[in-house]
Amino acid sequence: MKYKRCPRCGLNYITEEQRFCKVCLDEIEGRKSIFDEDGFDELICPFCEKRPVDIDDVMCAECRAKRSKKGGNV
Ligand SMILES: [Zn+2]
Ligand SMILES: [Zn+2]
Repeated sequence: MKYKRCPRCGLNYITEEQRFCKVCLDEIEGRKSIFDEDGFDELICPFCEKRPVDIDDVMCAECRAKRSKKGGNV
């Protein structure tokens, strides 16, 4: 198997089929997911972990509605 240097970092060796070394791939993917995400600085509701919440709110509107229906039993 042929090896070449990773074109990104120029430090690690990769195989012909690979585009980047593992370290760079992790970095690229990690950065991508942060920058691709719209408003990653938004707070996410800790209860459903899906919906955004305002900085003043403890939970999203949906979770709040659920809670009040169940009388805070959850
Ligand atoms: Zn690399
Ligand atoms: Zn929620």
